[in-house]
Amino acid sequence: MHENNVKVGISACLLGEEVRFDGGHTKSKYCVQTLSEFFQFRQFCPEMAAGLGTPRPAIRLVGDFDNPKLIYSNKQGNDTVEDLTHKLSRGYVKFIENQSDLCGYILMKNSPSCGMSRIKVYQDNGHSHAKKRSGLFAEALMKKYPNLPVEEDGRLNDEGLRENFIMRVYAYNRLNQLKGDKLTMHNLIQYHSKYKYIVMAHNQKAYKSLGRLLNGSSNLSLQELYKFYSTKFMQAIAKPAKRAHHFNTLQHIFGYIKNSLTPTAKTDIINVLERYRKFEVNLATPLSLLNHYIMQYGSEYIKSQYYLNPYPEKLGLQNYI
Ligand code: SF4
Repeated sequence: MHENNVKVGISACLLGEEVRFDGGHTKSKYCVQTLSEFFQFRQFCPEMAAGLGTPRPAIRLVGDFDNPKLIYSNKQGNDTVEDLTHKLSRGYVKFIENQSDLCGYILMKNSPSCGMSRIKVYQDNGHSHAKKRSGLFAEALMKKYPNLPVEEDGRLNDEGLRENFIMRVYAYNRLNQLKGDKLTMHNLIQYHSKYKYIVMAHNQKAYKSLGRLLNGSSNLSLQELYKFYSTKFMQAIAKPAKRAHHFNTLQHIFGYIKNSLTPTAKTDIINVLERYRKFEVNLATPLSLLNHYIMQYGSEYIKSQYYLNPYPEKLGLQNYI
């Protein structure tokens, strides 16, 4: 059973709202037609919230790279340049304050407000700095919620990044559910135990250190431990796992059931794992075969692993990685 109230923030133009500077939108078919079945989207346009209206002149970041100003891009020469930086932040500050229930955020690329990365800052000579940065709203959002899974619409076209983002959204949602009354040492250990193989596939070093963190020897209070664990856990799974690491993880999982299997079933699984290692099949193939046998012969512990079932199967994400 998967959660159906996973709340995810999104740049409003990606849902087809006509809020762009040119009066149009940048509707994302994947977000509107696929993800909206699984996520409760909360849309927001920081530029509209700032009262810039639509249509409006295009805007850009200028000046100091770390502390840029937002201005209309079409101002030139002696035109009076209106600094929109504070106007924009007044529009989003309150919104950002109230988003602690979100489990992910999908941002529109290339926007000086919403862009997650690769946003240019122009210098006085008209050239942009070599480095690129986040848009102003995106930066404030990520600063307030540093563990929140955030991705850009364009990057979601990459199958590996897409799978990783959605896996993180579900992981963060489950982590958030441990807050308040539900935060007990037992529940935190249970969470970690169910995510054991996901962490192993993503980051071997973190797999060991997160286990040590929860082994009872820490001097931290439960709240501090939860906060520290959450940060380390979300960092550990922040990047897509490599195929070789998935292969090792699949072998570990196979180890749990292999003594219960017939020689033929064992050979089938070994062959499929090998084909996965050689890029002949994608992750969905060994996972569905293992799941089939785990349902029959696996212990409750192995059946409870999120690695086997990290998000709704209907999303079909493992068919592409
Ligand atoms: S990118 Fe952000 S600021 Fe620009 S139209 Fe979309 S939601 Fe509004």
